[in-house]
Amino acid sequence: MTTDNFDHQRLSNRILMAMGLGLVFGLFLNLSGLAERPGVDSFLVSGVLSVVGEIFIRFLSMLVVPLVFVSLIAGVSALSDPKKLGRVGGKAVGLYMLTTGVAISLALIAAIVVEPGIGANPAELVEREIAAQPSFTQVLIDMVPRNPVAAMAAGDMLPIIVFAILLGLSIALAGEPGHRVGNFFNDFNVVIMRLVGFVMLLAPYGVFALIAVLGATTGWGTFLGVLKYVLLVLFMLVLHAALTYSLILKALTGLSPLVFFSKMRGVLAFAFSTASSGATIPVTLKTVEQRMGADNKVASFTVPLGATINMDGTAIMQGIAAAFIAQYFGVDLSLTQYLMIILMVIMASVGAAGVPGVGLILLAGVLASVGLPAEGIALILGVDRLLDMTRTAVNVTGDAMVTVVVAHSEGELNREVFEGP
Ligand code: ASP
Repeated sequence: MTTDNFDHQRLSNRILMAMGLGLVFGLFLNLSGLAERPGVDSFLVSGVLSVVGEIFIRFLSMLVVPLVFVSLIAGVSALSDPKKLGRVGGKAVGLYMLTTGVAISLALIAAIVVEPGIGANPAELVEREIAAQPSFTQVLIDMVPRNPVAAMAAGDMLPIIVFAILLGLSIALAGEPGHRVGNFFNDFNVVIMRLVGFVMLLAPYGVFALIAVLGATTGWGTFLGVLKYVLLVLFMLVLHAALTYSLILKALTGLSPLVFFSKMRGVLAFAFSTASSGATIPVTLKTVEQRMGADNKVASFTVPLGATINMDGTAIMQGIAAAFIAQYFGVDLSLTQYLMIILMVIMASVGAAGVPGVGLILLAGVLASVGLPAEGIALILGVDRLLDMTRTAVNVTGDAMVTVVVAHSEGELNREVFEGP
């Protein structure tokens, strides 16, 4: 365990270093104009770097479905009291909704005060196909898999969670045969965690490549016209993570937010470079369990659930973006419309899967609900990648914070591990 912790810390530092180096390297390629030379682009940027980055994301994604499935069954089947599951679920969903509500409210207030849309001058208006937002009733229906294998093949998280919970409960209630099957899943869980550890060893290379591609391919000029919007979103993301999460963590558990954030470094780097809370699930789960001491019984449930229904960072972007677009088009929003935005953003956060860029796509539904033109999305499309990466880091921080709080309230948090090195 001690060696594992030590390795983990060293690995986190290496990953952060890789991020820094990747950024410097990418910016160098970009600013020197090298990135645009056909040879450099096809061999290095669209070649080696993109391949390494994509393979790294694939390795992570490869783990998500088996890990969530096995780990959740292991967690639920170990529950001595099935009622506990309902409590854990209730607390987690409640906290996820609460933090998202706070996030979107803060974002709207900031956008009303700062008015980022006034005087904005976007560099490009890109045509974009607008996807429809799934209705709330459809999200509810889709939670129950018609065919669990199809849900797993498609990587649909909510139906996988529902199936794994039911299977885990049945294992817990099936007497001796259930005990045998439960043991198998427990062992399997340990094995998959080992595999997560292997993939994490690749992280410094993967992260370097992903960030270098970002640095090399981003047209920084696109940021200038909407700089106020970008800076406001970034500021509110950091504020929400540093303030709201620290306050909730401290108030409900008495644990140190500083320790929490220092242990989150590795997870943040993964979330930032992959821009996917879903692909980050293996790392989030490993970190909250092995470094923060949250028991698998709670974490195996709250982490994948959070990656799917809890997106505070996305809510912040959507709130500010909606206000930005209204201001840009000179539309005055009424109080009812602001409340509508809050509601729609919370629903979008539940309905969206934790994959890159989905927050921007679902913004169309939010805009439509208050009669704003969906074409407004084109105004901020060019700068979304960086914001996507940053908001994903906030999204997973929220998942981890709520997991720690719920585990603590259930007596399933090992304080020594949390406060340990
Ligand atoms: N990329 C985000 C996530 O995975 C979702 C979004 O686009 O906002 O959490």
